[in-house]
Amino acid sequence: MQQEVDESLNDIRAAVRRLCSDFPGEYWRKRDRERGYPTEFVQALTREGFLSVLIPEEYGGSGLGLYAATAILEEIHRAGCNGGACHAQMYTMGAVLKHGTAAQKAEYLPKIATGELRLQAFAVTEPTAGTDTTRISTFARRDGDHYIVSGQKIWISRAEHSDLMILLCRTTPREQSPRPIDGMSVLIVDMRNAIGHGLTVRPIRTMINHATTELFFDNLAVPIANLIGQEGNGFRYVVDGMNAERILIAAECIGDGHFFIDRASAYARDRAVFGRPIGQNQGVQFPIARAYTQLEAANLMVQKATQLFDSGRPCGTEANMAKMLASEASWLAADVCVQTHGGFGFAEEYDIERKFRETRLYQIAPISTNLILSHVATHVLGLPKSF
Ligand SMILES: Cc1cc2nc3c(=O)[nH]c(=O)nc-3n(C[C@H](O)[C@H](O)[C@H](O)COP(=O)(O)OP(=O)(O)OC[C@H]3O[C@@H](n4cnc5c(N)ncnc54)[C@H](O)[C@@H]3O)c2cc1C
Repeated sequence: MQQEVDESLNDIRAAVRRLCSDFPGEYWRKRDRERGYPTEFVQALTREGFLSVLIPEEYGGSGLGLYAATAILEEIHRAGCNGGACHAQMYTMGAVLKHGTAAQKAEYLPKIATGELRLQAFAVTEPTAGTDTTRISTFARRDGDHYIVSGQKIWISRAEHSDLMILLCRTTPREQSPRPIDGMSVLIVDMRNAIGHGLTVRPIRTMINHATTELFFDNLAVPIANLIGQEGNGFRYVVDGMNAERILIAAECIGDGHFFIDRASAYARDRAVFGRPIGQNQGVQFPIARAYTQLEAANLMVQKATQLFDSGRPCGTEANMAKMLASEASWLAADVCVQTHGGFGFAEEYDIERKFRETRLYQIAPISTNLILSHVATHVLGLPKSF
């Protein structure tokens, strides 16, 4: 069984590598310079079915597990490309798949599988609440057949390149809810109707090309038919998707780490200074070997978290630990790669400085390292909560 999985993954990995070879460094440098969305790349992945692997076959996807999705994103990143432009199309639909009504699944999932509907936006973070999600204040109040939504979100990526958005908002104020995690709900927002009719999207320029935005809701009307699951239970519905997101982003970090180690090793073999390859110096080779060792260890945790997720077992702690270890390993590899390249590590045409900036994000988003450490300390080690 495991052998069959490995072999099918080899085919998928090879197909992703082939696709990525059509999108070389210059493609990404141009998008990075212009802060442009890599539309052609996303369309190619969609066409080949790589973004619908988690959608069951009955809805037009390939019905594979997270193991296939992690392999796809790892290869994308190892090739120097960036899955951040579209990875949400893979997992954000999980809220509809697991908690939506039969009608919602039939309406949305087949179109998400073909890419006719882009579900790239997942809106949780707010400027004042920060990581303390229970303090979000974007509020949806019932008015007949609609919710009327007002409030603000920040760092909502790909909102301009998405037809639908999964929105976490309050439907009962925190202080009137039995527990802080109660009273939040998940709505499907149709961006095509919403923008200009109660929703304003404002792009934020950032250190990397990530198409992230700020959202302003001013009495946006959303049909109650767009509520996912039960009103007030929304936080539980997004947690599962957050685990998938953390594991997938950890896989992107593993891919980034390999990109840096591949580049550093090749350069260290070729570059001769003082009459010998720089990689002959242990001062150059040991940091690369250390980065490789840490990356491989992180990868084991990514695989463990993936297996737990795919078998439907609790995986919150492992998903968090995988994301933390992988993001730290990719950052170490990035730093080593720059150091190995000397001055050329700073040259745009080597793509290393771009990937260096891109991989830094993952110690902050989708969850920052301190919050992961806090989870492990309190949920696993039984230490008192500090907040
Ligand atoms: C490029 C980008 C894309 C993003 N895309 C999305 C998206 O699509 N959708 C979405 O909903 N969000 C998105 N985010 C938001 C992201 O998930 C948050 O930025 C991240 O979770 C950290 O939250 P914060 O920025 O509010 O930091 P804060 O909560 O303000 O924390 C700031 C710092 O303080 C630390 N800290 C806070 N509280 C504690 C504590 N009690 N103990 C120890 N340390 C603490 C944190 O670890 C962090 O380092 C994105 C962010 C970025 C930068």
